[in-house]
Amino acid sequence: MKPRLNQRLQFSLAYLLVAATVLLVLQAWLQAPRTVEIPMSRFLDLVRSDKIEKVALTERQIQGIAKPDALPAGPTGASDRLRQWLNQSAELRVFTVTRIPGVEEAPLVAELERHKIEFTGRIESTFVRDLVFGWIIPLGVMIAIWMVLMRRVGGGPTQALSFGRSKHKIFDRKELKTTFGDVAGVDEAKAELVEIVDFLKNPRKYQRLGGRIPKGVLLVGTPGTGKTLLARAVAGEADVPFFTLSGSEFVEMFVGVGAARVRDLFEQAKDKAPCIIFIDELDAIGKSRAGSTGFIGGHDEREQTLNQLLAEMDGFDSSKGVIIMAATNRPEVLDQALLRPGRFDRQVVVDKPDLRGREAILRLHARAVVLAPGIDLGVIAARTPGFAGADLANIVNEAALLAARKEKNAVEMSDFEEAIDRVVAGLEKKSRVLSEKERDIVAHHEMGHALVATSVPHADPVHKVTIIPRGVAALGMTYQLPTEERFLMTRSELEDRIAVLLGGRVAEELVYGEVSTGAHNDLERATELARLMVTKYGMSERVGLATYGERSSLFLKGSGIGGEREYSEATARTIDEEVRALLERTHDRVRGMLTTKKAVLVSAAQELKRTETLEGERLRRALAGESMTEGAR
Ligand code: ADP
Ligand code: MG
Ligand code: ZN
Repeated sequence: MKPRLNQRLQFSLAYLLVAATVLLVLQAWLQAPRTVEIPMSRFLDLVRSDKIEKVALTERQIQGIAKPDALPAGPTGASDRLRQWLNQSAELRVFTVTRIPGVEEAPLVAELERHKIEFTGRIESTFVRDLVFGWIIPLGVMIAIWMVLMRRVGGGPTQALSFGRSKHKIFDRKELKTTFGDVAGVDEAKAELVEIVDFLKNPRKYQRLGGRIPKGVLLVGTPGTGKTLLARAVAGEADVPFFTLSGSEFVEMFVGVGAARVRDLFEQAKDKAPCIIFIDELDAIGKSRAGSTGFIGGHDEREQTLNQLLAEMDGFDSSKGVIIMAATNRPEVLDQALLRPGRFDRQVVVDKPDLRGREAILRLHARAVVLAPGIDLGVIAARTPGFAGADLANIVNEAALLAARKEKNAVEMSDFEEAIDRVVAGLEKKSRVLSEKERDIVAHHEMGHALVATSVPHADPVHKVTIIPRGVAALGMTYQLPTEERFLMTRSELEDRIAVLLGGRVAEELVYGEVSTGAHNDLERATELARLMVTKYGMSERVGLATYGERSSLFLKGSGIGGEREYSEATARTIDEEVRALLERTHDRVRGMLTTKKAVLVSAAQELKRTETLEGERLRRALAGESMTEGAR
């Protein structure tokens, strides 16, 4: 781009100017002779002992030059040494004397005459000094500070006066070549975004019947799953301008700058409609305002920015064809106000890819590299469970680099193996990469949940089981679809829910004879449910109908600490026993259930390990034990 070059030129010019000023001032200072201020009495002494060469009288001062060695050398400071080094005279001969106000000139003149000292009068001129110290140096300092600030706030110094000018990049249609073809393995997200593209292309079609085009689309997914890529692809497919800005760029050290940026961004976007505004890493500004009041006024800037964003989103109407997309990997920290209808009301989950998805992504990125014949990307995909798109792209790239280093003509399987090992080593620090044994355990654990859920009468049906790790805590996941919105639950339904929670652990017990730490969260939730049944819902005969809670103190409310028990030790013991009994009863029931279905459990777990995600018909068949007869495909 042309303006950028121009900008850079101006930038270096400004630097040159400042540097030149500094040098000039330094030189002037160094060349000025060393002077010393001496008291009037001393001066008179020097006059009387003929140690003065000449003097100039000004209104307030006497300036003069003493004869060599008349003045003491005094301590030499750093500036003297610098002078010496620069070959400037460090000899001390120039002095100044402050004149005593109101004292007559005549006697002094007479004295000077008597000692034959050359003297003149001089009108005091401090013009140069005033200029340097009063203007040039302060100005230089100010310019320097200002430039540093500008670099933080805006682009180069050319944008100096537009403090809140946003520094988003504008990608015009010509530049933006990303399409859905560049995204693989996230088919569900892609399918949802195809609709957004259609909104942008034919807004009329949707408004014909009075429908309202969504304003905001929030892409949610772990880092590296392709959220940024998808947003660009939407813009590329719709062939509209793409305004992008990262959430962290909004938040600056000055209160109000972020808000000004948001305003500016929307203003520019409105001019270019239809277009897409993309706010990457929304959580940087969109963090929940509640609970962020740790310090008084601590998050003013972010809050103002967020408020401005909310106001802008409310203020424009999407019929003009401006769609706001945003991405986050932490939807749970977002302020609720952002997720309200009329703002980011559409959420698109961008999942980590499954086996087939990973193969597709590998294939996509492998297009750019020269592969040796006979490379099976499916094998690489099978070795990389839990990898996100960015990790896979990284593997392909690493492999190509490794092969090049070994001067090969094509990337071979061994290069991929090595690349995987490298990337895995990097990932293991960041997140979980499961070993074969762990995958085995997780598969049985999840299938345990699923199998119990299909076996008990009152559980919500399972619609998806996966062993693709999500986040830090969840190694696998069993998704149950509630058949209807629940407001009331019966005792047997609650018991079945506990049973499903225990299913994972029981499966581990049955298959391995021991348990892992993986059921920790399940047990917590099961215990909590059981305790609620006993203490709040009156579902235990021994404890009875009374509810038991904690009288929470005002300050510690909801904090989980403190609070006084409202019941006796004896009751507390009974409650604990009842909770225990309920859990044990359910545990035995689940154990019986899974023991009879152990063969199905094992075969279904194998199927899950193979495909990583099971849903729909394949899940149903696996849970019915039909995958057994099929064998290992
Ligand atoms: P996110 O924004 O979700 O953190 P990015 O979109 O920045 O992830 O992805 C980083 C890079 O990883 C992309 O530029 C692309 O090369 C690669 N990548 C990630 N996901 C995919 C995918 N689904 N298909 C193809 N490439 C992907
Ligand atoms: Mg991103
Ligand atoms: Zn579990």
